[in-house]
This record gives sequence, C-alpha cells and structure tokens, in this order.
Amino acid sequence: TSIMKGRLRPREVMVVIMHTWALIGFGGMGGWHYSNIKARLPELNTKGAYDIRPEALKSAEEKGLYPYSSLDELLADKEVDLVTIATPNNFHKDLAIACLNAGKNVICEKPVTLNSAELEEIIAASEMNGKLFSIHQNRRWDRDYCIIKEIVASGVIGKPYFIESRVQGSRGSMHGWRNHKVNGGGMLLDWGVHLIDQMMNLIDSPVVSVNAHLLKLFGSDVDDNIKLMLRFENGVSALLEMSTNCFINLPRWHMSCTDGTAIIEDWSCKGKMVKLNTNAEMAWDDEIVYTEAGPTRTMVPRPKTSLTELPLPDVSSDWSDYYKNILGVLDGEAELIVKPAQALRVMKVIDLLFKSEEEGHGLACRI
Ligand code: NAD
Repeated sequence: TSIMKGRLRPREVMVVIMHTWALIGFGGMGGWHYSNIKARLPELNTKGAYDIRPEALKSAEEKGLYPYSSLDELLADKEVDLVTIATPNNFHKDLAIACLNAGKNVICEKPVTLNSAELEEIIAASEMNGKLFSIHQNRRWDRDYCIIKEIVASGVIGKPYFIESRVQGSRGSMHGWRNHKVNGGGMLLDWGVHLIDQMMNLIDSPVVSVNAHLLKLFGSDVDDNIKLMLRFENGVSALLEMSTNCFINLPRWHMSCTDGTAIIEDWSCKGKMVKLNTNAEMAWDDEIVYTEAGPTRTMVPRPKTSLTELPLPDVSSDWSDYYKNILGVLDGEAELIVKPAQALRVMKVIDLLFKSEEEGHGLACRI
C-alpha cells in the first residue's frame, strides 16, 4: 500500500507512508508496540487491532485504531501488509500461519512458539507465501547488551571465556497466563528466550552442550527460578540466571576475558572494565603468602599498579531500530536482523534445555 500523507511546505518533512500495520492482541505488549510505532515511526500507517477481549478492542478504538471484530476481518483487509502478533505464547503459531497464508508480512512476539517444531511450520508458511517473518527480539537493542557486544567486538580486554548474564527480581510467581504451561508460560520461555538469543547472537559458534536447572518455587505448573549453562564450540561458557525470589542481586553482566573483566551492574548500565596492564608482572613468588584468605599463592591480591580501570564504552541503542529494520527489509533496502533461522537455533536449544531438566543432567548437542 502506498499513500502520500500531508503536503510539502517549506522546512517541513513529508512523510511517505509505504506500509499499513495491524496488531493482534492489544494487551500490555500490544499497547507498547502501538505507542512506540506512533511515536517513532510516522512512516508506518497504524490501522487497526484485533483482540478476543471486547474491552481491549474498545481501548484500541479509543486510541484511534480500527477495531476488527474478527481475525478473518483483519486478514481480509487488503490495505494491511504488516501484522504484529502480541498474544499469549500458545496462540502465536496458528495466528502467524493464518496471517502468512493471507499474504501478510508478520512480526511475532517472543517466544516465537512453544518449541522448534512449531516454528518450522511457520517458516514453511513464510517461504511458501514469500512473506517476511521475524521475531520481536527487542532485547538485542538493550543498551547493556549492546555494550557487552561492543566490548567483545573491540577486543579491548581480550577474548571472552566465561559470561554471566542475569535478570533477578523478587515478585514471586509468574504473572497471569505466564503461570500456566498450556499458555507457554514459565521463565525459560519468557526471559530465557531473550537471554539465550542475546548470548547466541554474541558468540558466533555452535552450542555444544546445555544444562538446565528449572525450579518451580511457586507452583507445580511452570518454571520460575532458573539457571542455564551453555557451552559453545569455541570454548566460551555462559551462565544465564533468571529469578523471581532474589533479594540481593548480582550484576546484570559479569564477563571474564583473557586480558580483563567487565561488569555491568544493572539496567542503568553502571559498570566498568578492569584490564591487566600489558607490562604487568605475572611471575609468582615462591613463598606462600599469608592473606585474609589464609595461606595461599593463587588468591593473593595483585598490586593495583598492574591493573587499569576503564569506563564502559559509550553505546546508544533504541528498540525502535527493530521496526526500522523491518521496514527497510520490506522496501528492499536492508537485510533482516532477527532471522527465523536464528530463532530456530534458539528454540532448538530451549527444547534441549527442557529435556535436560527432565533428565536431570547436561546434554551434548551441536546447534
Ligand atoms: P497480555 O496478557 O497483557 O496481552 C495479551 C492480549 O492478547 C490480551 O489483550 C488478550 O485478550 C489477547 N488475546 C489472547 N488470545 C488472543 C487471540 N487468540 N487472538 C487475539 N487476541 C488474543 O500479554 P503481554 O504481556 O502483552 O504478552 C503478549 C506477548 O508479548 C507474549 O508473547 C509475551 O511473551 C510478549 N512480550 C514481549 C515482551 C518483549 O519485551 N519483547 C515484553 C512483554 C511481553
């Protein structure tokens, strides 16, 4: 669809609307998609929304969106060429396939599906219809993650080998439908999919083993407090932790690299790097040293003069860059950043993490 909006007056920018968007699921995240697009992407025409709850439809209408009374009505709207799906997770697969078969380009919220087999069905529908399919992995644009990416890419503290990525809350059980397995609830599918996607996007190497500890502290249906270990073929190991019962938080990121350590405390991105000076004395004294830790050589603090503290790199990022990339792809001007094949790797790792928990031990793989 191609509509010209507004007249060009001196010193005014003309916005050319090339695509028309509709939303399925006008809940918490659906509302965010709508306001973000409205505020940041004037070139995308926000047309309407469909939701099974009448009150959600009413709220969409009050915001100026056309309220589709059925999914079929939305699918039949020829003007709409891009649809975002933001419903509970168990509805993603059927809705995505229906949209793709109706000739729409589709963005689906994370987790894209409940397992990799479901995602393969969507990918087949996307290829058969020649339509774009992508997953809203917005956390690839989180500032803390972009800083970690920049540190690894620059090599300023060498190569990473242990990376710890954590999100820790204390609100107890998972909220609403996220507390039910039938809806695709649980922490692994909720935050796990973000942290795994970030890590697999950071480390360019196959995952060769996984080990999951998926605790159900607040019920029997879904995991709520979890730790995951991923080992990559290039030797990097990652520990991912997500909790809802943590009252003393560890840093959001702690990364051990060959020449130094990086730490990001929290979402506000306070943190630092500490680097070993290139001329630093590495030799050991033969004498055992008596420290607060008792007699030890290994844990003797090194002289402060052998270390340099560096600020974290200054990186800016913006979640709406995700949508800008989608529009660029639709216009043939950009390569898709969040690709279905990447999401498929993530979902295969998640399948195996569930199996690891079931069997109670780590599992080898090559994903
Ligand atoms: P929500 O419960 O607030 O909203 C879901 C909406 O979908 C509700 O309005 C509900 O009525 C509607 N709905 C349910 N079934 C439907 C169907 N079959 N057809 C049409 N509408 C239907 O949930 P939420 O927090 O907005 O989460 C929605 C999705 O967004 C989930 O997949 C979640 O994982 C994802 N999410 C992503 C992020 C992110 O940062 N990327 C953040 C939060 C949620």
